[in-house]
Formats: sequence, structure tokens, C-alpha cells
Amino acid sequence: MNGSRADAAAGNGRGAAALALASESGSVSLGPLFRVARRIRNSPPVVGTLRALPWGGAVILRYHSINDDPAWGSDYIQSSLAVPPDVFDRQVGYLARHHRIVSLTQLIDDLASGRRPDGRSVAITFDDGYEDNFRLAFPILRRHGATATFYVTTGAVDDASILWPVMLRHAIRRTEAREIAFRFLGSRPIDLSSERAKERAIRFLTGLVKHCGETRAREVLSEVEEADAHAYEKRVMMNWDEIREMHEGGMTIGAHTVRHYNLPSQDRETLTREIGESKRRLEDAIGAPVDHFAYPNGRTARHCDRASAAVVAGLGFRSAVTSVTGPASPRYSAYCLPRLGVVPRYRELSLLGAEIQYARFARPRNASLDEICRADPPRCACAAGETVSAASGRPGTGQDGRPLEAEATGR
Ligand SMILES: [Zn+2]
Repeated sequence: MNGSRADAAAGNGRGAAALALASESGSVSLGPLFRVARRIRNSPPVVGTLRALPWGGAVILRYHSINDDPAWGSDYIQSSLAVPPDVFDRQVGYLARHHRIVSLTQLIDDLASGRRPDGRSVAITFDDGYEDNFRLAFPILRRHGATATFYVTTGAVDDASILWPVMLRHAIRRTEAREIAFRFLGSRPIDLSSERAKERAIRFLTGLVKHCGETRAREVLSEVEEADAHAYEKRVMMNWDEIREMHEGGMTIGAHTVRHYNLPSQDRETLTREIGESKRRLEDAIGAPVDHFAYPNGRTARHCDRASAAVVAGLGFRSAVTSVTGPASPRYSAYCLPRLGVVPRYRELSLLGAEIQYARFARPRNASLDEICRADPPRCACAAGETVSAASGRPGTGQDGRPLEAEATGR
């Protein structure tokens, strides 16, 4: 869900058009200059040169939803997270022709071997577990002989509760009220009088929840849920039968916590429960190990840190991915791998190709994430001096020889 440096460099025209230099004779628009720079940046010779460079990493692509229902892409999830099925079909075809689509496990094996991964390699991933992943994305992937990893938020599948970002969006988008007051904000009203105001309110409330520990987040969300007066007309998440069928059909199932809370905002106990229970529940459901994890959220708050990376490593996962733009390379810990978010405007395949090449060389721009993403592996706080091996991607053992898992879950 993060914006990327590549996105910023590519620009979308709006910012460029708005930029103007004041001068004595009036104003000089920089828009045409930005457009030329963008055209050069994304041109075949430049992208082809980047493609030929041997030292960039592989790229893990991040999708959420494959859906072109306009009501879904406004009242349920933000529109930038929904890629239309025909676009996804063309994208997978493009990736199959011009890249090497690998499973996440294959990519992690490549990284663990210490070799630089093939720069043509791309792994496809999906976050959250939306029902269209099974209904629309899975058949398209199968048709192309491609594979992908689906990170599932288990609580939303188990009790059919709505993923909190979806519930929050639905409550605000569907209300007829022109303003709304919440006790947790001291009953100060929030403006909902226009589409823009509603989107602003959703961003504000989402950011607020991301900064809350579990108890506070539950309080805030239950009050928002009280305001959600309209029934859900669509099924939101996949069910267990669908998840099992995808697993049996060659897809990889990964964990994405139980409740999708922002992990750096949680205490150690919640952190361990959210990560550990999602792994156990998925393993029970599919009858196979679940080796890969995706940190929930991103954007307006830090969504992973050393403490969460250490718990993920200690619980026996082989990898964890972030929402930070960058390459999958041995430069980064296997527990803090950057990805590239695919947004609807990458419907232009040359743009998708360019963004993949730029992501191969990108550096995470958030300084704190950069710090934890470097190959310096996450340190298990309770394993005095012992670390998880980024090279092997496997948890090590504590000084007394006990696995880190036992130590990590003990807090
Ligand atoms: Zn998510």
C-alpha cells in the first residue's frame, strides 16, 4: 500500500501539472519537462539497459484484489488496490513472456543459497485473502501456468468477520450522514459532506487505528462498526474450501496475521498471538507448513520493525515481505523483503515492465525501514547474542540450544 520512489519519479501528471515557477513575467509550467523526463525514464532503450544490468535483484509483486466492480473499488477497498481481471490476464501473460515467474519458495531458496537471484525473476503475491483471489485471479494464473502466494488474514475467514479496513471504508462510504461524531475523538464531528471528505475521513481513521494497540483498536473499530448501518452486498473474503483448493492447485498460502492489526503498535503478547495463530490456523486448514508471512498495513505508519521480524523468524517462517518498494536481493533480510505494489495504472504493460526494472535497483526510502531491511538479520531479543540466519532463512537456536521459537513465543 506504500507509494514508491519509482511511482513518484514516474509521476502521474497531476503533481507535475500543478508545479509552476513564479517569475517576474508570470509563471513557467514544469509540466512538459516532467512529461519528457517520464517518457525518457520509461523508454525502451533506458528500460532495456536496466534489464541488461546483471546486479539488480528479483522483484516480488504485490496485488490485493482482481476486480472491476466499481462498487467494490470504492465502498469495500480503495480503488488503487483493485486491478481489473482483463488487465491482470494481460499482465500475467506479459510476465510469462518477458520474465521468469517463480514461486516465492523458489525465490527464497535462491536468496538462501547466497547467489544473486536471476534479475528476470518475479514472484506474484496477494495480500488479505479477498474472495476474488479465488474466483478471478486463480483461474487466470492457472491458464498461464503461473503460480502465486496468497497471504491470508485468518480471523476474517474463520468467523466471516469483515477485515477492519474494509469495514471502516464501508461504514464511511455508505452512510448518508453529512458528518459523524465518535466518542473516541471526543465527539468532535468529522466532515462527510462530499466524496473527497469521505476519503479524507477514511485515511484519517485508518491511520488512527494503525497507531493503536489491540485494546484501543477494538474500541475504535467497534464504534465505527456501530455506524455501519448498511448490509454487505458482497462476500468479502475467501472461505477455507477455496483456500484449500488453491493450495492443492499449486498456489502458496502465506500468513497475514489474524486481525490485520499494525504489528509495531502491538505489545509482545499480541504480536506473538497474531503471527503465531495465523500460521497454526492455516497449517491446520491446508495440512501443510506455512513458511511465508506478509506484514499487514503500511503507508501511514511503520508496519514492521525488529520486534515483529524477530517473532516471525522465531516462529519458524522462512520469509516475510513488506509494503516497501525495492528488490528481493541478498542485501535484505529474508524477514524484511521489499516488494512492488501493482496499481491499476500499470495496465500499460510497458509501464509495468519499467516499474519492475526500477524496483530491481530501488532502495527503501523510509529510513527506519531501511535500517531494519538491511541484510543485518533480525535479532531475537531473548536469544542473547543469537540471530536468525538471513542466509539460510531458518531460525537458529539460542545459546542453550533450544530453538528460538520457544523463546520468542514465551514473551
Ligand atoms: Zn493486508
